[in-house]
Amino acid sequence: MRLSRYFLPVLKENPSEAQIVSHRLMLRAGMIRQQAAGIYSWLPLGYRVLKRIEQIVHEEQVRAGHIPLLMPTLQSADLWRESGRYDDYGEEMLRIKDRHKRDLLYGPTNEEMITDIFRAHVGSYKDLPLTLYHIQWKFRDEIRPRFGVMRGREFLMKDGYNFDIDKDAALHAYNRHMVSYLRTYERMGLTAIPMRADSGPIGGDDTHEFLVLAQTGESEVFYDDRVTQLKLGGRAVDYDNWDEVAGVCTEFTTLYARTDETHDAALFEQIPEAHRKVGRGIEVGQIFYFGTKYSEPMGATVVNDKGERVPVHMGSHGIGVSRLLGAIIEASHDDKGIIWPEGVTPFPVGIVNLKQGDGAADVACDSLYAALTTQGLEPLYDDRNERAGAKFATMDLIGLPWRITVGPRGLEKGVVELTSRRTGESEEMSPEAAVARLVQIYAAHR
Ligand code: ATP
Ligand code: MG
Repeated sequence: MRLSRYFLPVLKENPSEAQIVSHRLMLRAGMIRQQAAGIYSWLPLGYRVLKRIEQIVHEEQVRAGHIPLLMPTLQSADLWRESGRYDDYGEEMLRIKDRHKRDLLYGPTNEEMITDIFRAHVGSYKDLPLTLYHIQWKFRDEIRPRFGVMRGREFLMKDGYNFDIDKDAALHAYNRHMVSYLRTYERMGLTAIPMRADSGPIGGDDTHEFLVLAQTGESEVFYDDRVTQLKLGGRAVDYDNWDEVAGVCTEFTTLYARTDETHDAALFEQIPEAHRKVGRGIEVGQIFYFGTKYSEPMGATVVNDKGERVPVHMGSHGIGVSRLLGAIIEASHDDKGIIWPEGVTPFPVGIVNLKQGDGAADVACDSLYAALTTQGLEPLYDDRNERAGAKFATMDLIGLPWRITVGPRGLEKGVVELTSRRTGESEEMSPEAAVARLVQIYAAHR
């Protein structure tokens, strides 16, 4: 993409309405525009990151054997009357009447709808296990929408639902979700710690939240700081192997890590003092096992291998897709702007032409552009007639992890400069070597 032809409405001034750095930087980098309290348009740069995050979420869900579908945003109130939640949900639910005076609602979550799909089409234990998920907009009429996309009213969520024959099978689905979530967050360059949590209005016994440590987080968290060192890394996990999957979960949930809702002071005291930490975290996901809470009242049953009709065991599992943009920025920025991890960056690399209109510099930039694009690394090329300082400031603000700087002086020696946004370190090399280096870097993230 050539910047001169792109739509990147960056702001020079700090927007006064933004209280936290991620909200400020998303506005300044021209990623979002607020349209009403807690409701945003996704401008092209923000949209690119949102799509990258969605893509990673999809890939890791499919890898775990989960099946994507798409349910509507609007739901019939009657479904929610069946589960009893239409009255329970309260003011967070946006209720709508259509022209025939029928009650609809903008879905805050989809347990009822997925249970309805299941009961209409599945009747035998032979069709289990089954996990269906979608990535769809939700609406919750939050009392205090704030912090930009972090606590919106309309927000994008991945929500998945498992259907299993009994509790053991459903707990394997729970564990499978935990592992797939750990992989998902790691690919985004995040450390998200599973913490035992409270189940709230979804209901159920077993639940973990995934928290990204950040001072601006809304949850108070208590943890053994050795938990922050745990990594899945590139290890392959066989999602069909119950023991292996459970083993990974044990590894990640044995050290103490809880939110204030489930905090146990006595247990916390047992952590060696040097490792005992109190901090704040951003909830980027949550998994639940809730058994037959919905399947029983809504009649989602299957015939088991003894010929008996039994309600299925279920769980639901959510990732805050749009909130993740804020969480990633909170975890990865400096005073110049955003620093995107390679896994989610809107463009893998920026090209800065120090002397637009200079024949040699323009030709070198064009050929770099073509070479990178051929490798699947579409660059953002700053081809505007601007001072070098302004071009660097824009690149730093929008946070592309790598920058190639091209100028007449370097070209005389046959080199360009490759700069890391994270470390600020630059290295001179031939344009071909810069492309090869980037191909190598991104091979690990695609
Ligand atoms: P919270 O406690 O932050 O209100 P929740 O526990 O009600 O969230 P869940 O029902 O668990 O949310 O939804 C799954 C995920 O969706 C959450 O982990 C969070 O990342 C995201 N999410 C929830 N509410 C919002 C919101 N208002 N804006 C953006 N993302 C949200
Ligand atoms: Mg939650």
